[in-house]
Amino acid sequence: MSITGRIHSIETCGTVDGPGLRVVVFTQGCPLRCLYCHNPDCREISGGTEVTADEMVAEIQKYRFYIRPPGGVTLSGGEPLMQPEFVQEILRQCKALGIHTALDTSGYCPLAIARPVLEFVDLVLLDIKSFNPSIYTQVTSVSLQPTLDFAQYLSDCHKPAWIRFVVVPGLTDDPNNVAGLAQFVARLKNVERVEVIPFHKMGEYKWQQLGYDYQLSNTPTPTPECIQAIRAQFQQATPALVL
Ligand code: SF4
Repeated sequence: MSITGRIHSIETCGTVDGPGLRVVVFTQGCPLRCLYCHNPDCREISGGTEVTADEMVAEIQKYRFYIRPPGGVTLSGGEPLMQPEFVQEILRQCKALGIHTALDTSGYCPLAIARPVLEFVDLVLLDIKSFNPSIYTQVTSVSLQPTLDFAQYLSDCHKPAWIRFVVVPGLTDDPNNVAGLAQFVARLKNVERVEVIPFHKMGEYKWQQLGYDYQLSNTPTPTPECIQAIRAQFQQATPALVL
């Protein structure tokens, strides 16, 4: 019998979650509570729709013509590693079909759980939301160390990764925070790209609909100069990796 899991939605022509054109599966459930989350309706593992891994792979296969390499499938969320067996089975079947696989994760997951899933992942999109532990906890409500351990594990086993960092003015844009993360990333051996992403408020209306308290209403989005300065910091530490 096929393994079941819960998903929030599927995007069939994704262009920002990995290389090429991708089918992006947004899984349900996330242990983090990021202040800027644009998918707060992904939070609860009990939400979304129940599907089987076989059904998901059948759905993904409908788009095989569009997702030829360098495109593929990306498992995102929510936090895909909250449903490790379900996600592993989708990735395993996709890889067997020759489809490029990516996993978009916060890395907030015990390595013993993540390791078997990662066997079927070609590329990890790892969100490191801050390098300063107290800012990280302020942003996400969880601790930083599991994500750093996850990043180090990916480096040790040479698993290709893109690092993603969201710039929130007054929160994550502190130059010392950025410098610490840039130096950490520079020591990793597997990073192919660093993405500096401006915070936006496109999900704010969802917070209101769900009755959640959105604390960043008065936080401005970062200026182009701010983004440029942060990109320059990463560029200094990791030339050629920064987008
Ligand atoms: S990790 Fe992603 S899905 Fe989870 S709360 Fe943070 S932004 Fe939202």
